[in-house]
Amino acid sequence: MKQLGWRTIMGGGALAALVPGTAHAADSQDAVALGLVLLGGAFLLFLVMRELMCWYWKVNEGLGLLREIRDRLGALEAVAGRPAAAPRGAPPATTCPKCAAVHPGDLAGQFCDRCGAKL
Ligand SMILES: [Zn+2]
Repeated sequence: MKQLGWRTIMGGGALAALVPGTAHAADSQDAVALGLVLLGGAFLLFLVMRELMCWYWKVNEGLGLLREIRDRLGALEAVAGRPAAAPRGAPPATTCPKCAAVHPGDLAGQFCDRCGAKL
């Protein structure tokens, strides 16, 4: 194996693999193997550094809390989203079709005091 410069390591392997005859077979195989080893090492380093950053900034902890909040909110919505039965004896309410304002009482045929739309 001859001395490998950065250009040979990073580009020579791929170039030799793509274009046959541009390098000696043994040299190109060495360069490809070295490139793969470097790529694998860089990937392992990335994984280790990623885990370190996630631990330091407590990303996983925050993610767990966010998921818990989401699940609890979903459960709350499931309970609160059900149509509530109107209390007995409560006066009916009229909802404006235009601005969605809720007016107490049955105001059918009258006009919304907010937007003026016919209720
Ligand atoms: Zn209105």
